[in-house]
Amino acid sequence: MNLVKTYGTIIKKYADTNPKTARKLIQTGLHLELFRTRHLATKGMPAAYQKLNTLAVKSTLFALEHPEQTAWTNIFTPVEILQCFGLNSLSIECLSSFMSGFTCEDYFIDHAEQEGIAPTLCSYHKDFIGAADSGVIPKPVFSTTTSMICDGNINTFRHLEKQHGIDTFYLDIPNEYSKDAVNYVTAQLKEMISTLEHITGKVFDMDELSLVLQRENESKQYYKKFLEEKKKRYYPTTLTLQLYMLFATHLQIGSKETLDFFRSLYEDILTYPEFQGKRIVWVHLLPFYQETLKHYFNLSDHYQIQACDLNLDYMEELDVTHPLEALATKMLCNLYNGPYAKKADFVASLAKDMNADGVIHFCHWGCKQSSGGIFQLKQAMKTENIPLLILDGDGMDRRNSHDGQIKTRLEAFLELLNNLDSTI
Ligand code: SF4
Repeated sequence: MNLVKTYGTIIKKYADTNPKTARKLIQTGLHLELFRTRHLATKGMPAAYQKLNTLAVKSTLFALEHPEQTAWTNIFTPVEILQCFGLNSLSIECLSSFMSGFTCEDYFIDHAEQEGIAPTLCSYHKDFIGAADSGVIPKPVFSTTTSMICDGNINTFRHLEKQHGIDTFYLDIPNEYSKDAVNYVTAQLKEMISTLEHITGKVFDMDELSLVLQRENESKQYYKKFLEEKKKRYYPTTLTLQLYMLFATHLQIGSKETLDFFRSLYEDILTYPEFQGKRIVWVHLLPFYQETLKHYFNLSDHYQIQACDLNLDYMEELDVTHPLEALATKMLCNLYNGPYAKKADFVASLAKDMNADGVIHFCHWGCKQSSGGIFQLKQAMKTENIPLLILDGDGMDRRNSHDGQIKTRLEAFLELLNNLDSTI
């Protein structure tokens, strides 16, 4: 019997008639997971990743238990400002992935479609809308999103704002960096801060923001040093952990706990041996539930995911003496803001720099930005002579993923990588 699936079926049953009970069941499940991640280490999982596990589960649980201290965001939102108001960030992608972890994604996606949300909308958005509109996810104190990258964001946040009466702030981010663009975004950040002061009754402290950015800079320094080591060392990971990295690199970046995690990550990898298997750079989200991918990558000593582009979308040092301008620059110069060619070139140089044997691009169903740039990505990989596999599927809706197809394509790709090695 699949216990998670059975638990998910019970959650779905209550979601229909008693959403608060469904929420309690989700919270109980997360409490159990939190206990497990803190006290029962998974065999073979590095110690630092256990901290990451705890960070991700704790943050999601907090959002469900303390909506009065929670903001709904996307992963590119300047969460550093929210932290100064004591607000925890919950993103669409992360919450939806957790719902999928409970095998409830079908219920929430269907719920959204039944209320008229277009079936073609990205499943992360539909799932989040379904979870919020069914009453399972409590209304937060604030929500904010950016106009960049994801074409679904603004409409989803507008829908949620209207449906639940949430104070929402939209950040309009121009496509290109310029001095004027920095001023334009900085002015919006000031306005957002005034809105937050009004909502929370707290006075914003610029020095506190500088401290958050200082911790963010230190975290990224440790992360860079970790990646340097990962070029050669074995450091087992899983698809879920790579996804959880979004909590450390985005939603919780700048916090003390996150800095502690990155420090541990770097110190921990130094204790690991050299890696002898095949190295993979992953592009875009990871379908953490997919059986074949789990089989080949989770805690594997044959195939290792070196890095995922999503976690490296802005690695520059932030100017702590001008924190708002620094955050504006961070969004404007984000890897995903502007033309796709920027990202394609970055992935190629990342793969080269990490000594990757190949690149896997996961094309999430319903995501226009991930499918629209395939041609440019192919070209960039071809120029650098790096093998590329494009996998189509759904990052969280199991009904849109076909294991047979993924298995055939992945195994052919891995065979190609292994054969390339033997011909050198
Ligand atoms: S997968 Fe694509 S469409 Fe979906 S939330 Fe992410 S960027 Fe937006």
